[in-house]
Amino acid sequence: MAEKIGVYFDKSSLEPYLDLESLSEKIQNKWSSVCPVVRIVDQLASEQGHSTVKQDIDAGEIDAVSICGTSPRKDQEFFDFGQGVSMDRVNLRELCIWAYRNPDGSLPGDKDQPLDLQGMAQDYINMSMNKLQRSEVPEPEVLESVKKVLVLGGGWSGINAALSTAGAGYEVILVEKQKQLGGHAAQMYKTFPLKPPYTQAQEINLQERIEAVNQHPKITVYTGSTLQSLEGQPGNFTANIQVGSEQQQESVGAAVIATGWEEQDTSYLEPMGYGKHKNVITTWQLEQMAQKGEIVRPSDGAKPQSVAFVLGFSHVLEDFARQEEEEKARLEEERKKREEEEEDEAIEEPFQKTESYRHLPYTTELTTMTALKQARYIRENDESALSYIIYEHMTASGLNEHYYKAAQDDPGIMLTKGMISSLEESPQDRLVLGVEDNLIGEPVELEADLLVLPTGLVPTTALDPVVQLAYRQGKAFPELELFDGFADSNYICFPYETRRTGIYTAGCVHQPMSLAKSERDAQGAALKAIQCLESVNRGVSVHPRSGDLTYPKFNFVRCTQCRRCTIECPFGALEEDADGTPKPNIARCRRCGTCMGCCPERVIYFDNYSVGQIGAMISSIDVPEEMEEGGPRILILACENDAYPALDMAAQQGKKWSPYVRIIPVRCLGSVNTIWIADAMSKGNDGCLLLGCKYGEDYQCHFMKGSELCQSRMQNIGETLDKLGIETERVRQEEAAIDDYERIPQIIDNFVDEIFKLGPNPFKGF
Ligand code: SF4
Ligand code: SF4
Repeated sequence: MAEKIGVYFDKSSLEPYLDLESLSEKIQNKWSSVCPVVRIVDQLASEQGHSTVKQDIDAGEIDAVSICGTSPRKDQEFFDFGQGVSMDRVNLRELCIWAYRNPDGSLPGDKDQPLDLQGMAQDYINMSMNKLQRSEVPEPEVLESVKKVLVLGGGWSGINAALSTAGAGYEVILVEKQKQLGGHAAQMYKTFPLKPPYTQAQEINLQERIEAVNQHPKITVYTGSTLQSLEGQPGNFTANIQVGSEQQQESVGAAVIATGWEEQDTSYLEPMGYGKHKNVITTWQLEQMAQKGEIVRPSDGAKPQSVAFVLGFSHVLEDFARQEEEEKARLEEERKKREEEEEDEAIEEPFQKTESYRHLPYTTELTTMTALKQARYIRENDESALSYIIYEHMTASGLNEHYYKAAQDDPGIMLTKGMISSLEESPQDRLVLGVEDNLIGEPVELEADLLVLPTGLVPTTALDPVVQLAYRQGKAFPELELFDGFADSNYICFPYETRRTGIYTAGCVHQPMSLAKSERDAQGAALKAIQCLESVNRGVSVHPRSGDLTYPKFNFVRCTQCRRCTIECPFGALEEDADGTPKPNIARCRRCGTCMGCCPERVIYFDNYSVGQIGAMISSIDVPEEMEEGGPRILILACENDAYPALDMAAQQGKKWSPYVRIIPVRCLGSVNTIWIADAMSKGNDGCLLLGCKYGEDYQCHFMKGSELCQSRMQNIGETLDKLGIETERVRQEEAAIDDYERIPQIIDNFVDEIFKLGPNPFKGF
């Protein structure tokens, strides 16, 4: 808890807009008992500025620092004064000056909307003082970490993940359910070009890699083995492995899941003649034929003279798309029902097998490149043979363009954009395809000996709980139904990461990808696993708040064992005992604060982030007694990952918004405890705006569903406000992504306009 706070103003970013002398005087008067040092420094982000602060710390004058100047997102490391010193940044430049000044640098002097930037700055500084007074210097919870990584799956991705991890000096346990390593790659003929000039498919050097794995002193391989369960937490997992008839136990610190894919249920190809016509096959079937050196027509075993590859046939799959929508709606309905029931029922999330037709009536890089590659196989098989590729979208990006061009230059390969309008079988078992909307501009008919349809890749996590987690919240990765069976926790910002900390995915279990990409993906996942090992043993969070020393603490005396925190933790970090008392697993925790936000008893807190602390910051806001004179006062709680940076960027680009708002960043809207809103409103604030990430299926929340949870909590606060006689419209939640800097000032101003229409909070003045 800070007792001697030093306040430092950065003159270079605040003058002439703020009267720093006057602000200094006010701080000295108001905070004299806890603020022995207030300085105005010409340029804080300079060696001289840094050493001014450092000297005060070293002399024992202060034990906490409040830097008043630029956004906390700027010069983060520069303003780190080391462990043991509480730090806060007061964002006066972006939020208090740049959001209001004119392009010529002047401040508007609108008499209808008087700008009281001094008052605003004073509010923000008071918030900082309250924040620091309620901050402890975080002490990390250091756990012993086993420097060993479990790699599950011995196909191409697993092999590469194992080699990368071992290459970095860490031990690896590689578990493969088949008797040999290699997976699907062992059944493939060639891969797309991996080296210049990127025009020829090439051999897969699989055997070489398998040799490297088998000979590596740091890799232990279990083939013909399965993972029975994974218990514990990052740094200290126990993997129970079934090796033949024996049970083997291994201690590992992190895991890479590289269990790959299974072929999609071919029933979705039926509208394109699969299963009806003998000479309609999939790319995976053709690949295996090529590997055996036997590309033939199934009907008569003859070498095909003409082969049609069809990429995408979305119009044929309309029925499936409709089914997909219906299925999604049903699953969402079930999920909501389950969530409602969870209050009283067991919280384990049941594994839901993902229906395979949900995967993919669209063209990917993988299906495009496979068609290009296999069209060349046909030509290699018989140089007089012809290949046709009929595509809706040609997805050959980057260096793959060279391979696409090489196919275009081959006189035996015809490529056309088009849609299949009809499919018949001739008496000679040939396929007759009608092609419309093509580049020629009129319908054409093609005859082919063989029709090849793309193979859909379904991640193994969609079919089986491959990892068998011994977690209170279930054996599998949760809520797979919303993500088509992929186990990721955030595609956009955190590839590799699942919703179970310390467990990463690589290769086609992560998303459909080529061997080249799988190799890079395996390297990435291996590095994440290593980062995890090396974070746990320093007591810091792995991600997304990498390096965070804090973790949730529990004041169990007040706990009513309501289990809300255990249920709402998005990452399965909280187990519970038989009575329902939460049992935290710190290394699984991502420090989102969702548990803190949901706890009705305010049992949970972090050293530098707590219900009491933010509550005190809200109380620091000076609420004008008369709305007509000082304007309304509106609290904004903004997600620090998206909305807050968007506000910063908006200000940096000269966008403006109402001066009646006061903004407090929060770790996630999931961490918002409703008591903050109730307190803000009961203290006379006229409105409260919550700015968080998009939620639902296209979610962007770093912590999975913080905005969604906050929204449902807001319904409860609505009832409380209703009872108090405060209009529920005074509290609103809006979605804002990091690139919403154009829109975010408008969101604020629209809300402020509505508050003006509602008039003053009836609690004002009480
Ligand atoms: S901070 Fe987040 S991840 Fe950690 S226990 Fe709480 S809800 Fe779970
Ligand atoms: S939400 Fe709070 S009161 Fe309920 S079990 Fe968790 S810590 Fe205890």
